[in-house]
Amino acid sequence: MAFRCKNMQGCPMYNLITTSLRIMQLQPYLTDYCTNQDRCPECARYRVLETGIKPPADLLPDGTRLTT
Ligand code: SF4
Repeated sequence: MAFRCKNMQGCPMYNLITTSLRIMQLQPYLTDYCTNQDRCPECARYRVLETGIKPPADLLPDGTRLTT
């Protein structure tokens, strides 16, 4: 079975990545982090969640912020 981040459900960034009109720009985050077993724990959102803190909504997996 394909790997999926344990935080996928309820992750606002995952929802954005998969539904945004900017999907071509954001899609690499899905394959680089959300469905990548090795790199998923490196996701900035994942790492914040592991500390028990809710990450900012615009925090991207690579640690940068989503710009509008
Ligand atoms: S890898 Fe990061 S962005 Fe993707 S679902 Fe998990 S916490 Fe959210």
